[in-house]
Amino acid sequence: MTTVALITGATRGIGHACARLLAEHGVTAVIGARDPAAGRAAAEPHGLPHVRLDVTDPAGVRAAVEWVEREFGRLDVLVNNAGITFGDSPPSTTAVQEVRQVYETNVFGVVEVTNAVLPLLRRSPAGRVVNVSSERGSIGRALDRTHPLWPMVNLAYSSSKAALNMITVSYAKELWDTPIKVNAVDPGWVKTDINHGAGMKTAEEGAAPIVRMALLGPDGPTGTFVQDEGPLPW
Ligand code: NDP
Repeated sequence: MTTVALITGATRGIGHACARLLAEHGVTAVIGARDPAAGRAAAEPHGLPHVRLDVTDPAGVRAAVEWVEREFGRLDVLVNNAGITFGDSPPSTTAVQEVRQVYETNVFGVVEVTNAVLPLLRRSPAGRVVNVSSERGSIGRALDRTHPLWPMVNLAYSSSKAALNMITVSYAKELWDTPIKVNAVDPGWVKTDINHGAGMKTAEEGAAPIVRMALLGPDGPTGTFVQDEGPLPW
């Protein structure tokens, strides 16, 4: 039985690398794309399926999940990867509208998609949810004055990822006695558009810990927050 994965925001960057790496493991990796033309361009050269999926559009999310059900009958892996930021700004100069917009994708979109696919994940013998979080959502790291992240403040983005971390734990608790495992992963500082090309890692290197958590065996953990180097403080 082929493993079926759905990756949100998989037209470029880490999401696209994730889909390609999963496909190398024999997974049917569905490219979720808010723009169908971009989805086709990202999927077809790699022989991958794609589906229209804007995580901020509830009707579109439902339609995408119905398509997955028609095509595959179940889902084994959900990678909640789609994410946005408007860059660093201190809390005192951050507009509420900016926070709302970031949360629409990074927080509410995750809940929308996860709840919509859960019935399909429950049909899998080994459902996996991987939430692509960030070290910038770690409250433990944020309060460490010796850490390189100390000077960086981004109210909207960092708090959205902190919320995503608690969302991860909340689903992991509800699904504790099921085969479904839910984990949060920080990909590291990756050279993608979100960083305007800055970063230490390639998209493939950033995707590697996500793929690892997507393909966790039955004894793997649930309710954790990890990066390549190991566990992260919440
Ligand atoms: P990119 O900006 O390269 O890619 C973002 C992806 O998200 C694009 O495919 C984009 O689609 C998609 N997207 C944005 N909004 C939506 C939406 N509403 N619905 C569906 N898809 C959407 O960024 P990265 O690849 O770097 O980021 C991927 C994830 O990794 C994000 O969650 C980010 O927060 C996280 N992350 C990244 C780090 C880094 O250093 N790069 C570090 C820590 C975490 P489109 O092409 O249509 O715009």
